Amino acid sequence: MTLLSAKPEAAPIAACPACESSQQRPVSGTYRMACQECCARLLSTTRPQSPQAEAMLSLIARNIKRLAPAFGLDDVKASARLLVQKRRSAMTK
Ligand SMILES: [Zn+2]
Repeated sequence: MTLLSAKPEAAPIAACPACESSQQRPVSGTYRMACQECCARLLSTTRPQSPQAEAMLSLIARNIKRLAPAFGLDDVKASARLLVQKRRSAMTK
């Protein structure tokens, strides 16, 4: 059995500077396309099924193909859905 070693460019999420700055300023507008959380944040700024969301998805899909990160388009979609849910429940509190 071979353990897959983590790719050096696949930095842990906590170490992503764009994610860190978004914790302090949610509308910082910085995203790293090699980071799943960043892609999810980017996608969650659009309305599902809107032309913007479709454009964002194809952009993210292109980047996944190019950068080959440790996540796929479905992971980004799932993360984005979670983000939207979190935001929604924070609003209704
Ligand atoms: Zn990030």
